[in-house]
Amino acid sequence: MNKYQPVIGLEVHVELNTKSKMFCRCSADYFGKEPNTHTCPVCLGLPGALPYINQQAIDDCIKIGLALNCQIAEKSLFERKNYFYPDLPKGYQISQYRWPLCTNGKLMIDDGKIIRINRVHQEEDTGKLTHTKDGTLIDFNRSGVPLVEIVTEPDFTNVEEVREYAKKLQQLFRYLDVSNADMERGDMRLEANVSVKRQAAEGPLLRHEASEPRQRRGESELPNYRVELKNINSFRFMVAAIEHEIKRQITEIEAGKKLTQETRGWNEDKKCTYLQRSKEEAHDYRYFPEPDLPELILNPKKIQQIKSSLPELPWDKAKRYQNEFGIKKADAKILSESKEVAEFFEEAVEHGKKHQVAPQDIANYIVNQKPDITSVLPTQAVEEIKGKKVGVIEDLKELEKLAKKSMEENQKALEDYKKGKTEAIQVLIGGVMKISSGKADSRKVKEVLEKLLKSK
Ligand code: ADP
Ligand code: MG
Ligand code: ZN
Repeated sequence: MNKYQPVIGLEVHVELNTKSKMFCRCSADYFGKEPNTHTCPVCLGLPGALPYINQQAIDDCIKIGLALNCQIAEKSLFERKNYFYPDLPKGYQISQYRWPLCTNGKLMIDDGKIIRINRVHQEEDTGKLTHTKDGTLIDFNRSGVPLVEIVTEPDFTNVEEVREYAKKLQQLFRYLDVSNADMERGDMRLEANVSVKRQAAEGPLLRHEASEPRQRRGESELPNYRVELKNINSFRFMVAAIEHEIKRQITEIEAGKKLTQETRGWNEDKKCTYLQRSKEEAHDYRYFPEPDLPELILNPKKIQQIKSSLPELPWDKAKRYQNEFGIKKADAKILSESKEVAEFFEEAVEHGKKHQVAPQDIANYIVNQKPDITSVLPTQAVEEIKGKKVGVIEDLKELEKLAKKSMEENQKALEDYKKGKTEAIQVLIGGVMKISSGKADSRKVKEVLEKLLKSK
């Protein structure tokens, strides 16, 4: 097994939760609605109907792009992706190909590895087919619902990384409030591209190499085929499908067979991937610019506005919880996974200050007891923790010792503070919280630090 290195790239589709569809005014809120009631000539693809662009969808796509550190194109273009299928009434999907809205992004996963994002572009969803024993039913309510596609470079080398990345994207969509990102409902869909290559003689790819430009790593290092795994509707199936596919490919290579480009699906009953389409049957989409839509021109000011409207992202929150409150890394991650839990935690911390309940104790409570945050109030949580416990460090001598240690360990913050950057005290407080495993009373820590800093 170790002779081979998996090479994986991920394509994620996410349906936006805008009020109306991408190119018409039909309601995009179609889930569970009477079939074919959210339609009009545009999304039914009737001749002569003209599309117009949904501004909110574009803003949401830009939000995703900015949160993933992409460059946002001031000028982009929609194109027609032509293919014939019953769920596609126009005979083409309006998508972006050569001039996508967002390009060249990146997202860091937990071990510090950077996953490069090739593009984040705007497109539209298709209708929905339901196969019955009497024939196939078509519902066009979903036809034309805004869809954003996020494509990575082939930077993943194992399935754990893929899972983590996909989970992070799901959190992001929910934080940005651009989608419910529910896998079961099909709001979020995954396609993995998988190949394997022989380990280089000089050893495996090092972590940092994945973040280097392609030219330096050499494009030729990529296997000359890839297997696309399609229609995977849960994280669990995705992991199973990728794992199975890696094994299957290695077995084929070991048996001297040559692997080729193909599309495979996942059979959950048999727990294996199966061939759907080989290279010979691959589509030629004959992309060309959509003649019924103008170029999409964006004002840089507008992009800047969207940028400054972004909320604090989950991974930034996790970092702040560690630095500011001394929360353990694993806990900080759990606390920031959802906006609701994060808000609950932060309110509880605020309240905890008044009652000498340390942030880490609140974190422990949330992570271990998993309170129902829709019914328990943050203040109640604090009362409960306080009732039970706890070794909060309030003793001034003790705190002074911790404060001095933090000042020793954070020389830069100390100097900054002396130069008049008073906000550097946060770093020093964070230091004390870290050294004390979050047990220090943060309000008193601040007082003690201020006193010490003044006397310096
Ligand atoms: P397509 O339109 O054919 O799906 P895309 O450019 O949208 O092409 O997506 C290609 C995906 O395949 C990207 O996620 C990319 O990282 C990945 N990929 C490219 N080459 C390989 C490879 N050799 N092995 C695994 N994944 C690959
Ligand atoms: Mg694809
Ligand atoms: Zn419509």
